[in-house]
Amino acid sequence: MKQKKFTEKTISDLLLGIAVGDAMGVPFEFLTREALDQQPVQDITGWAMHEQPPGTYSDDTALTLCLAESMAEGLDIEELGKKMCDWFRKGYWSAHGEVFDIGIGTRIALQKILSGSPTVMAGGDKDMDNGNGSLMRIAPLALDSRYREPQTLWNTIEAVSSITHRHVRSHIACFIWVIYLQELLKGDDKRKAYENMRIQVNLFFDQHTLPVRERELFDRLLVHDIQQIDRSVINSGGYVLDTLEAAFWCFLNTQQYDAAILLGINLGRDTDTTAAVIGAAAGLYYGMENIPAHWSEALARRDDIEALSEKLFHTLSSHSQQTHP
Ligand SMILES: [Mg+2]
Repeated sequence: MKQKKFTEKTISDLLLGIAVGDAMGVPFEFLTREALDQQPVQDITGWAMHEQPPGTYSDDTALTLCLAESMAEGLDIEELGKKMCDWFRKGYWSAHGEVFDIGIGTRIALQKILSGSPTVMAGGDKDMDNGNGSLMRIAPLALDSRYREPQTLWNTIEAVSSITHRHVRSHIACFIWVIYLQELLKGDDKRKAYENMRIQVNLFFDQHTLPVRERELFDRLLVHDIQQIDRSVINSGGYVLDTLEAAFWCFLNTQQYDAAILLGINLGRDTDTTAAVIGAAAGLYYGMENIPAHWSEALARRDDIEALSEKLFHTLSSHSQQTHP
């Protein structure tokens, strides 16, 4: 297997992939699939739903950038929580200094932290607390080779997700997605990476006690073949399992960055988050050179994202024995 060289560009590919996907989806958030079927999104646009100019990314990217920056500084959960609260209160890492989009679970958790609750206990832990708010910001963890050891990755995901989402279902979703991104980083074909992810995740879960029902919820991804599922049963709302399934389905069923993102947006509802999650895989896999130039040129704070990629690369490169796939 030919291994992909890990460079500063690998990090930019991931972060720009997420940010551009998010920004592409922002104008269409909450639109129904039926409405989009009548008038599908075919190219970049702005305004509409959130009254933001083209290229404006939202909470998904801002909180992903908070994690990437925190990783560049050594990943301290308290510090990450502070950055996320700074985003919430002051628009830190936002596209234009303004927070115009926030999920309910994230809002409640960050308010709890601001009132003094311990950071890793802030997220909701009930069945109903499984929105896609931690999945949408988890991707940078795939970049650190120290998390290639599954138990270390699981423990890190528990901490990072729990800031806003403390239920095991959200942790499983994040784990599956990060393992998949790690497999893509190895340079394998995306289909082969999907099969490798399933083997790894199933093995890990065989060795760990998880509620059977929680594990079974992921059967369409881990036992059956998500790529073959009909579009009519791929959901695209704010539920973490729906977003994860939609991301795999769109990415596996397309051959270009733009096609994957547009397929995701045209599923409707949580268009920006679905596209941001797809964008992580598509950005890593195809590289930023495959993102249409007029999409990436419109992106807010592109230079800042590139500078952050460089900073994170220096930190990851300096880890002793750092051997990237
Ligand atoms: Mg959003």
